[in-house]
Amino acid sequence: MKKIAVIGGGIIGITLANYLDTAKYDITLFDDGNNQATKASAGIISPWLSKRRNKRWYRLAKDGAAFLQKLVIDMNLSNDIYAKNGTIILRKEALESLATLAEQRKKDAPEIGEIKQLSAQETADKLPLLTPQESLYISGGARLDGLGYLEHMKKLAVQKQINFISEKATLKKEDSYWQISTPKQQISADYVILTAGPSCKTLLEPLGYEVDLRPQKGQLVVFKTTQTQSKQWPVAMLDNEADLIPANNGQIIVGSTHEDEAQWDIQPTNAAFEQLTANSKDFLQSSEKLLKNSFEYRVGTRAYTSDFAPFFGSLVDDPSLLVASGLGSSGLTTGPYIGYLLANYFNEGNWPAEDYQKPLSNYIQKISS
Ligand SMILES: Cc1cc2nc3c(=O)[nH]c(=O)nc-3n(C[C@H](O)[C@H](O)[C@H](O)COP(=O)(O)OP(=O)(O)OC[C@H]3O[C@@H](n4cnc5c(N)ncnc54)[C@H](O)[C@@H]3O)c2cc1C
Repeated sequence: MKKIAVIGGGIIGITLANYLDTAKYDITLFDDGNNQATKASAGIISPWLSKRRNKRWYRLAKDGAAFLQKLVIDMNLSNDIYAKNGTIILRKEALESLATLAEQRKKDAPEIGEIKQLSAQETADKLPLLTPQESLYISGGARLDGLGYLEHMKKLAVQKQINFISEKATLKKEDSYWQISTPKQQISADYVILTAGPSCKTLLEPLGYEVDLRPQKGQLVVFKTTQTQSKQWPVAMLDNEADLIPANNGQIIVGSTHEDEAQWDIQPTNAAFEQLTANSKDFLQSSEKLLKNSFEYRVGTRAYTSDFAPFFGSLVDDPSLLVASGLGSSGLTTGPYIGYLLANYFNEGNWPAEDYQKPLSNYIQKISS
């Protein structure tokens, strides 16, 4: 039986491990749990009205959002982990043009669901935390609890007899096989799949590759309230640098910062709290009330490429080495699908015909042996 080592147990790695065929492969997943983006994420699944012009990215994000319906069934995800409660979009610009864009995109993405312009009162009725104001509602918008997802998928993977090693891994090629080492152990593998977020760069550089990836710090604030209905409320995308994500157990999440200079730093900061609460203040019924609740920070590290697009696949000079990273701020939407596509490649030999990305050589190049 061929051995596969997956390095990185975030949303790509854990989804991939669960879809790989254990009758064909002996699978080991390494994860050191450091700086992980998935468990820190806000949870918004709503890519359809993005202003990004990158068509490949949009195709991937749209198909990724559609794939989540299959994932829910295949992996038996509960409503606490994936909740399709809709998205409310608040914009200062005319909502009509946004509604027209949504209708256009729905032709290719029926998952958008119902598209409705809400009156001020209807908006506040759907999400009572908001001040009454007109908005656009799309019923297909969803929330994915990153941490809950990882915990659930890890349980499934254990049932499938996937080996877990909770340590930092390094890798080396020995003739025709890979040697993966941690402080406590060493295993060999026929294939290695790197799903280590921005650390893919750190893992590949010693092997002579130049990698277009950079880390970006993201923080969000989680208010602990007694709003028992919160898990049924839609997500609100506010018209500036903050979003409001009602979650399980009365949690109200305000996210997220995008801090390029802070890179790998994962210390929470007062400045992030000030920025996020100031940006959301004008949209909330009574932000003072929210601020009276206790809160905690979540901090993680996103991976970005210089064109903000993800990449995944096998390296041209060594097909036994595969990489997937650069998911940026939409990785909950694209990550599970990428994990599934990689698993399909191993299980069935299928590679998607759709044009989802530039060639991998745009992001990874061999510069020395
Ligand atoms: C604050 C914040 C909010 C976000 N909100 C959203 C959102 O609302 N919607 C959305 O779609 N996306 C969101 N994202 C983005 C999304 O979370 C990420 O794009 C996605 O989770 C990345 O998944 P990944 O599997 O590539 O990497 P990660 O989740 O970062 O996982 C990589 C794993 O690899 C491990 N690792 C690294 N190096 C090694 C090594 N040498 N050995 C062993 N293990 C290693 C790390 O410990 C980590 O656990 C958000 C991100 C942040 C930070």
